[in-house]
Amino acid sequence: MPEMKDAPIAQPPSPSNPLEGGCLCGEVRFRVTAPFVASGYCHCTRCQRRTGTASSVSARVPREGFELLQGAEHVRAFRPPTGGKAKVFCSNCGSALCSGELDSDELIAIRLGALDSDPGIRPHYRQFVDWAASWEPIPDDGLMRHAGERGG
Ligand SMILES: [Zn+2]
Ligand SMILES: [Zn+2]
Repeated sequence: MPEMKDAPIAQPPSPSNPLEGGCLCGEVRFRVTAPFVASGYCHCTRCQRRTGTASSVSARVPREGFELLQGAEHVRAFRPPTGGKAKVFCSNCGSALCSGELDSDELIAIRLGALDSDPGIRPHYRQFVDWAASWEPIPDDGLMRHAGERGG
């Protein structure tokens, strides 16, 4: 995994080093207590639509390491009829939180922008690059590129 030269990476989250995050309005708060196992950008059309941007950046954590602290009544999930993971968001402010089934999936993909501080991992791949927006070139950053979904 390539390391960024300009900024040291924080210690990964753990039970003794929890990392918190939340939505824009502050109603939904969550905690991560396990290290992220992968992180990357997704350039798929669904991510473009749901974020209004060219890509979405997330990191995957085992579900046991993800805990909702408050705001469960605002948490909603959109399950695209065309497939793909459930897109979990705050229904009060619209903020993207994560993807995956919070009570059954093995891994939950947390949106890095929802975290309060350094996740202890850096994005190391880009997926669905064949679907990338025409108006924003993919940066020449050396990250592994996958035409479609990254396996595993
Ligand atoms: Zn909110
Ligand atoms: Zn995507």
